[in-house]
Amino acid sequence: MHPMRLARLPTRAVCVRCASRLGNARARGLSTSSSSSTSSSTSSSTSASLTHPPPPRVAIIGSGPAGFYAAGKMLKDEPALRVDMYEALPVPYGLVRYGVAPDHPEVKNCTSRFTEIASDPRFTFIGNLRIGADVPLHSLQTHYSALLLAYGAARDRRLHIPGEDLQGVYSARDFVAWYNGHPSASSLSPLLDAPDAVVIGQGNVALDVARILLSPVDALRRTDMPEYALQALAESRVRNVRLVGRRGVMQAAWTIKEVRELLTLEGAGVVPVPRAMLPENTKVLPRAQRRIADLLVKHTAEPAPGDRVARLDFLRSPVELRPDNASLGRVGSVKFQVNEYVPGADPLDPSARVQAVDAPEEVVPANAVFRSIGYAAEPIAGLDEAGVGFDGRRGLIPNAEGRVKGPGGEEVGGVYVAGWVKRGPTGVIASTMADGFASADTVVNDLRAGLGLGGTGLGWEGVRKEVEGKGVMWTGWREWEAIDEVERERGKALGKEREKIVDIEEMLRVAGR
Ligand SMILES: Cc1cc2nc3c(=O)[nH]c(=O)nc-3n(C[C@H](O)[C@H](O)[C@H](O)COP(=O)(O)OP(=O)(O)OC[C@H]3O[C@@H](n4cnc5c(N)ncnc54)[C@H](O)[C@@H]3O)c2cc1C
Repeated sequence: MHPMRLARLPTRAVCVRCASRLGNARARGLSTSSSSSTSSSTSSSTSASLTHPPPPRVAIIGSGPAGFYAAGKMLKDEPALRVDMYEALPVPYGLVRYGVAPDHPEVKNCTSRFTEIASDPRFTFIGNLRIGADVPLHSLQTHYSALLLAYGAARDRRLHIPGEDLQGVYSARDFVAWYNGHPSASSLSPLLDAPDAVVIGQGNVALDVARILLSPVDALRRTDMPEYALQALAESRVRNVRLVGRRGVMQAAWTIKEVRELLTLEGAGVVPVPRAMLPENTKVLPRAQRRIADLLVKHTAEPAPGDRVARLDFLRSPVELRPDNASLGRVGSVKFQVNEYVPGADPLDPSARVQAVDAPEEVVPANAVFRSIGYAAEPIAGLDEAGVGFDGRRGLIPNAEGRVKGPGGEEVGGVYVAGWVKRGPTGVIASTMADGFASADTVVNDLRAGLGLGGTGLGWEGVRKEVEGKGVMWTGWREWEAIDEVERERGKALGKEREKIVDIEEMLRVAGR
């Protein structure tokens, strides 16, 4: 079934008598206020008097922060609504579980709020189902009033330079997934047997990678990093990590906390940044940039003997990853082109552009290379048929206030986006929350206005028949709780919060599936 183009809900989806008397939105048990902050008493009295039509059902695809915050907002604002959340893995939380660094446990506290949302009787979690593979998108369109795509950005950007497929070259995404116990990356076995590592990129993910490589492993033992990663890091011989950026200090996409953590890391020193890279008077800078510049002046010093060493290189672009002559097929060095600001560019401007300098290229040793130049979303199968466009260059689904757009820029009714797949792979959990709330408001307001897919209203009960008919194994919230409990027990025995189960078969076994 194709989504309707901002059409009114068809009357077959509602009680015809009520529809003619009250309008479609009311007939579906929805409050008719256009504001998303409708008081629950008004809304529930409306819905209580109209219990016979099926409640509107929203399918959310993806259980990261965008999906959960949007679910919470919709359930709070619209008492008649039901939300079913589909997740590709048997376990929830997306990058909160598999991206946020293990030594940032406080960031993961948002999962308490997600657990609270999941306890709402109008919420259903369906795990281990990949939409577009295990279940076609059109099956969801058949059974729901609205779909919210919140499936994140699962791909990483490539450098497109020679040598990118040499051994020892990793995407930061894979390395992060490895040290976080993601089932798809637990067998990565990164080569950490030699001293020099290069991280290409200077965003927060690059800083996470460098910090994990340089941290004393004992500082990580009480985190939820899996034992296999702790063991590999304990045996690691990486001593020098060079973080290289295409532009200058003021253009790096990092934030104060992450910069400070690297600069003050126990047992590691950061080589001073050339003073010419920093403004003479940092007081002229906006607050965040000033703090970072001041930190770079204050906390860098020639590393002490025996320290692990971090180095920040600016105005350099990699042009080739070169093999190590002594080790066939393995990376040994990186060749960089030197850059300068384009004429007229202000080096203090965060968006200042650079160009290659006509100067000899530089070659630096690299026994391991981590490219960290950004994540990107992928289209899931079925978007085309649903009339949903995809911007491959920016790696996101084009939209207006969360309402997806078709390839021609027209709005597609009943299908929405939130989070990284909506605005691209930037922003922390707080900005993803705000974004999830905004998309939730759009969904609720459209449903109240009678705009939606006009599906059967069966939701998961309708999809479930199809899934079970195909013999696909799914998990619910109870199964996640069983996995969670076993992980916590195993963690307790090791003196840490949890020891993650990294194998999907084992997750399903533990969950009794
Ligand atoms: C390495 C890293 C470290 C970070 N550290 C921090 C930090 O310290 N602090 C902070 O505030 N922010 C941090 N962030 C940012 C934060 O993680 C993101 O803002 C947030 O997770 C984006 O949420 P999302 O819901 O859009 O996507 P995600 O969190 O990626 O969730 C998407 C979910 O969709 C699921 N999915 C994908 N495809 C399908 C499909 N076809 N069917 C069903 N489900 C599917 C995925 O499995 C995943 O669970 C970090 C990000 C990264 C990459």
